[in-house]
Amino acid sequence: MRLRNKPWALEFINEHPDVIISNPEEYKGNWKAVFGNENPVHIEVGTGKGQFVLGMAKQNPHINYIGIELFDSVIVCALERIIEGEKPSNLRLLKVNGDKLQQYFAKGDVARVYLNFSDPWPKTRHAKRRLTHEGFLKLYESVLIDNGEIHFKTDNRGLFEYSLMSMNAYGMSLNYVSLDLHANMPEDNIMTEYEQKFSAKGQPIYRLESQFKTK
Ligand code: SAM
Repeated sequence: MRLRNKPWALEFINEHPDVIISNPEEYKGNWKAVFGNENPVHIEVGTGKGQFVLGMAKQNPHINYIGIELFDSVIVCALERIIEGEKPSNLRLLKVNGDKLQQYFAKGDVARVYLNFSDPWPKTRHAKRRLTHEGFLKLYESVLIDNGEIHFKTDNRGLFEYSLMSMNAYGMSLNYVSLDLHANMPEDNIMTEYEQKFSAKGQPIYRLESQFKTK
């Protein structure tokens, strides 16, 4: 998702360092300094306009959430959404590339990774860009606690099948798999923007929870 360029975006981002952390490398290994507590940290890679991460932060005040998004033009929508309401103290955003997580997080800093409606990169030659490719799994494992989890939702059947195989080949446990999440919608499900859009069109939503095994 890349929205039209917004020339004012960078200035707006810089005006809100309390929400979008401008120096995340300084908190590597010390995110409790940001949140003021030692609660678990859950990150969403590819957070888009922030509906999911904001909803989760409000629903679960004892978890700290960090939404990670690559593009200024997208993350400003999340920022606007957050500052419009009561800013939850357990939510921050990072405007960084998810492939650089090791610059910002030490092993054990993160308890769970959320991936929601990640770009499918359908061409085989682009497989390495999929956020569930082995290279990314390795990266998530390097910042997660032991037995850390990935929770993944998508409308894309091809990406879902690929992700099941990739996680299985990596030796992860699959703790939950749904081929139609909305058929038995969990009460605590927080919908993402893409989830709303695709489910409104009648498309099934796929969801899995996977976990790294102790080596
Ligand atoms: N998660 C949101 C949802 O479900 O509505 C947005 C889904 S959108 C298809 C994917 C988002 O991931 C885009 O906003 C894109 O900019 C972001 N993204 C893709 N690759 C990324 C990366 N390597 N690091 C950070 N964000 C990334």
